[in-house]
Amino acid sequence: MRTRWMFFNGEIVPESAVRVSPFDHGFLYGDGIFEGIRAYQGRVFKLAEHLARLYASAKSLLLTIPYTPEEMANAVVDTVKANNLRDAYIRLVVSRGPGDLGLDPRNCAEPTVIIIADNIQLYPESFYEQGLPVASSAVRRPSGDVLNPQIKSLNYLNSILAKIEAGQRGVPEMILLNQWGHVVEGTGDNVFIVRQGGLVTPPLSAGILPGVTRQTVMDLARDHGILVREENFTLHELYNADECFLTGTAAEVVPVVSCDGRTIGSGRPGPLTREIRDLFMQYAATHGTDIYPNVPVG
Ligand code: PMP
Repeated sequence: MRTRWMFFNGEIVPESAVRVSPFDHGFLYGDGIFEGIRAYQGRVFKLAEHLARLYASAKSLLLTIPYTPEEMANAVVDTVKANNLRDAYIRLVVSRGPGDLGLDPRNCAEPTVIIIADNIQLYPESFYEQGLPVASSAVRRPSGDVLNPQIKSLNYLNSILAKIEAGQRGVPEMILLNQWGHVVEGTGDNVFIVRQGGLVTPPLSAGILPGVTRQTVMDLARDHGILVREENFTLHELYNADECFLTGTAAEVVPVVSCDGRTIGSGRPGPLTREIRDLFMQYAATHGTDIYPNVPVG
């Protein structure tokens, strides 16, 4: 197997040289943050947006990232380059770092920063051709005053509980609701429905992660004259939507064709979903931070 090279606390090293302490509060308490980023055809997609979200999450947690955003951007590019990848899934993790067995983050000297760049594992092609069946989860997203879903923290237990339920219900993905019964998002994706020829997606105030793919899709749709509204909606509206799709760094734009046994629209990926997916894929293939700026494309 080829050696994977990783950014680890300021250096690019082989995977075997990455050592995380058992006292790291990321490991002990999920005290840390992360980003999942894609590279398409030699370009890192929406790097500045992912870093902005990382630093915003860090600020809320009073976690000082020991590098500037520019240094972090270079570290991402260098990690992809070290692995000679053009298409990649990049995982950037910043944990509170090694401390003691107590909770107090002030006992952690220095954050641990790791960047992994690996081959992408795409969802099976059938997901995109046929669309996904989903189910609504009994697990609620915590409200912002419990644990703000806008913080992309290392504690994903809420999504993991919903993912366990997905396995039990025999579907690949779940739809989570908030405490008021509004649809919020999937375990690792944002959700859109199509109604009267326009897109509707829950607002940030519903309690969602501000998805980079979500924002890109909203921007592209508006640029192409498609109406986009950020509005709360319920499962009833999702069941009765004309179309539904999920957005995320890993999933890109994936159609949803049923929820809780209710067929959505025609039960096939709808025309607007296909259009949005095409717009997104085309945009992702042509925009981003160059990883190999001096190498001619093609
Ligand atoms: N919601 C959650 C809970 C997620 O984990 C993700 C994946 N990061 C998303 C939405 C989609 O966000 P993005 O488009 O930035 O990947």
